This record gives sequence, C-alpha cells and structure tokens, in this order.
Amino acid sequence: MTSGSDPSRRFSRRQALSLGAAGAVTPALAYAAPASDTDVVIVGAGAAGIAAAHALRAAGVEHVLIEAGNRIGGRAWTESVTFGVPFDHGAHWVQNQWRNPHFARGEQSGYRFYPARDDYRIFADGTEATSGEVDALWRTWENVEEAISQAGDNGWDVSPASVAPDGGTWTRTAWYYIGPWEMGKDMDAFSCVDWWNSADSVDWYCAAGYGTLVADHGAGLPVSLDTAASAIRWDGPGVAVETNRGTIRARAVIVTVSTGVLASGAIAFQPGLPQETLEAFHGISMGDYNHIALRFSQDIFAMGEDGYLFHRVDDSMEAFGALTNASGTGIAYCDVGGSFARDLEQAGQDAAIDFVMERLRGMLGSEVDRTFLGGTATAWTSDPLFRGCYASALPGAWPLRRVLREPVGERIFFAGEACHPEMWATVGGADLSGSQVAATVIDTLA
Ligand SMILES: Cc1cc2nc3c(=O)[nH]c(=O)nc-3n(C[C@H](O)[C@H](O)[C@H](O)COP(=O)(O)OP(=O)(O)OC[C@H]3O[C@@H](n4cnc5c(N)ncnc54)[C@H](O)[C@@H]3O)c2cc1C
Repeated sequence: MTSGSDPSRRFSRRQALSLGAAGAVTPALAYAAPASDTDVVIVGAGAAGIAAAHALRAAGVEHVLIEAGNRIGGRAWTESVTFGVPFDHGAHWVQNQWRNPHFARGEQSGYRFYPARDDYRIFADGTEATSGEVDALWRTWENVEEAISQAGDNGWDVSPASVAPDGGTWTRTAWYYIGPWEMGKDMDAFSCVDWWNSADSVDWYCAAGYGTLVADHGAGLPVSLDTAASAIRWDGPGVAVETNRGTIRARAVIVTVSTGVLASGAIAFQPGLPQETLEAFHGISMGDYNHIALRFSQDIFAMGEDGYLFHRVDDSMEAFGALTNASGTGIAYCDVGGSFARDLEQAGQDAAIDFVMERLRGMLGSEVDRTFLGGTATAWTSDPLFRGCYASALPGAWPLRRVLREPVGERIFFAGEACHPEMWATVGGADLSGSQVAATVIDTLA
C-alpha cells in the first residue's frame, strides 16, 4: 500500500459525516402561503438564502423566503435514509474554516469537526502504483499546477488546457483530478485566473454531515417551500415576484439560485436584464460533479477512516476519485466530474454504480462484491433546481464574476456561491455572500 502525505497536493477544493441526527430539521411555517407584500423577497433557501434571511431578520427588515424545492439547504443536503447513516448529496468538505461561518456556528452548537487526513492509495492499471510511479504522479501534478498558477498570476484568462504540460504517463491523471474532480470541469472549460483567485484552504469534516449544518442554520426560519419564482417584474416601483403560489410584491429581491438556473431562463425578468448580466449567467458557468456513493460492510480500502483512492487516468478521461470509509460509516464517495460526469449521469444511476464497481474490482478483487451493501448516485446536472454542481468562469469570462455581483435597478440583487469573489464554489462562500448582499440591501432600502 502506498500511503503518505504530499504537500503539493491540492485535494483541498473538495473534500464529513458521522452518526448523528442528519437532515431532520424543518423550517417554520414551511407550507404557509407566502405573504403578498413585503420589503424583500429572497429566492432560494440554500446557504446564501438562509444567511440573507438571518441578516434581514436581525435588522428588522420584513422579508419572505421562498424555495422551489420541498426542503431547505439547496446543494448542501444530508440525509440518513439511503444508507442508515448520514450521506451528503452535495457539499461534504468543510473549507475555509476560519472564514466559514458554518464552522464557528457548528462548533458552538457542539458538532464534531476534524481535519482531513492525507492517506491515499493510487492504482495503475489494476495494481498498486510503485513508489516511483507515485513520485512521478506528484511531479507531474506539481508541474501542471505550476503552469496554471503562473498563467493565473499573470492574469491570463485562458484555459488550463492551453498552458499545462501534456503527454507522459501521469498527465491525464493530474489533469483529471485538478480539472473534473476538483472544478467539476474539463481542463478547457475554466479560466486559469479564476482558479488562481480562488481561496485555498485546508479541508475539514463535520461528522454529522455538511448539509446538517446548513439545515440547522435554517431551522426556525419562516420559509415557503414548494414555491418557485417564475418571473420577476421590475417595470414599476419595486419588484413583483411571480410564483406558482401567487405574486409577491416587494421593494427588492435577492436571487440566490445557481447561475445554471439563471442561464436556463427558468426565471423570466421583465423588462430583460442588461446584456452584460445575462452574459455573466452564462460565463460563470456550472460544472458537473456527482457522488457515486457505495457502502461496504468492511474497510476494504484498508486506510481506516477518510482515506483517498486514486487511479491512473487514460485519454478517455473516464475516472473517479474516492473518499473512502467517510467518518467510519463505510461509505465511499466515488466522485466523478466534468463532461464524463455529465455523460454518466445521462446513462443513469445503475450505469454509474457499475462503472465504479468494475473499476474497484480491478483494483481490490472479489472483496468488493462480498462486502458491498448498496449504492446511489447523485444527479445534480439534470436537476432543474440546480443544473450543475458549482460555478466557475469559462476561459475569457473572468471579468463577468464582478458583473454577477452588481445589482440591477437598485432592486434586483444576486447572491450565492458564484457571487463570492474568492470563496466561490463553496458553502462558506454562499453563506458570506448571502449576508453581505443582505447588508447592501438594508443600506439601499434605508
Ligand atoms: C456534488 C457537490 C459537491 C460539493 N462539494 C462541496 C464541498 O465539499 N464543499 C463546499 O464548500 N461546497 C461544495 N459544493 C458546493 C456547495 O454545495 C454550493 O456552493 C453551495 O451549497 C451553494 O449554496 P447557494 O445558496 O449559493 O445555492 P443553492 O444551494 O443552489 O441554493 C439555491 C436554492 O434555490 C432554489 N431554487 C432554484 N430555482 C428556484 C426558483 N425558481 N424559485 C425558488 N427557489 C429556487 C434551489 O432549490 C436551492 O435550494 C458541492 C456541490 C455539489 C453539487
């Protein structure tokens, strides 16, 4: 077994659960019809919408929080029904702990957090990689990251594929784990300067699941569930938010849905938004990333809790990276990203599970089938309430991040993970964006 730690690695962009009450928190007045007149409507009850609602509540600003789905938390969602132990469908790695309000709040509430470990096993064509091969991988990984970093530091708004070294036994592996597995995008679909400007951090886990923290934060907030905004009219004073449960009139609206939802046109703006804002919805585009979660009755990965399993990736770029025996639950998060994740999601859950099981058999043998308890696969890209995992700038689109944060007509405000300048793609960034935008709205209304 190859195991150890390597400081050059940047597994930190994703990377908690344990046996605790997960996803059991219900918001107040969940199914009450939304009030038809208020000061602020918040569209979406994910981390950003919840944080915005808390900020408005603290300032005594009347508001209505609507959510199209039948639960709060959005892309942070823990449930214990599938496996009998907490399973995070979305966010799992707690990042930027010192800046992430969920960390401080969670600790105060008594949730158990612990830092990610650096144990890993790497396989090459079915057999464990030799130490020479592992060294070669880390060298390649460093070279690829170095090229992207330099381009980013130079302000080059170009794709990693256009600057990173190519060719060689381990290049595709480094490309896969830096691109699809971390960013949810192939190496030609995001910008070096955007990547460079993202906040780096050490990963932590919350034993009860990341989604539990977010649901906990929203507990007790009045939320109208099953209430989808279909249009936002701003032709008169204030805004009129049309929903399947009636129209809500307000002085301002905070829209926290993903850029994928905004780009899809699911919410019509009347009159239309400025061209640059529309371009921002498309330019800060969603990546594709899914958990193919498998539960085993024994620690077949032999790394204890929270190890990592990687394998050599070939030109097909069909690959996964696994967080094994997460928090000792026996669940392996076998994660796929980029265009391969999109294709696999289309092929369906059984195909996704088969893909990983077959690869694992090749690495670990018959133990895989003997100890397999069951699996599931998430499908974030085809879900019309999300349309992907998290957003990053397409090559050439980096300036549009700033545009995304600009309010329109002093009454339409955007918040959410994609709006945070450097903690984008994270729950912490979404939370901070929600409270910051709410503060701006409070000032504007005053
Ligand atoms: C598979 C996966 C893994 C991830 N891993 C991590 C990780 O390890 N660490 C990390 O920090 N982050 C991770 N993320 C990203 C993180 O989950 C998100 O950045 C964050 O949760 C986004 O919060 P948000 O409030 O901006 O948006 P959302 O959570 O998307 O909230 C927006 C809400 O709007 C609702 N909505 C949509 N349309 C409408 C409408 N028309 N009307 C009303 N409501 C609507 C949605 O249902 C949703 O609840 C991951 C995401 C995924 C999908």
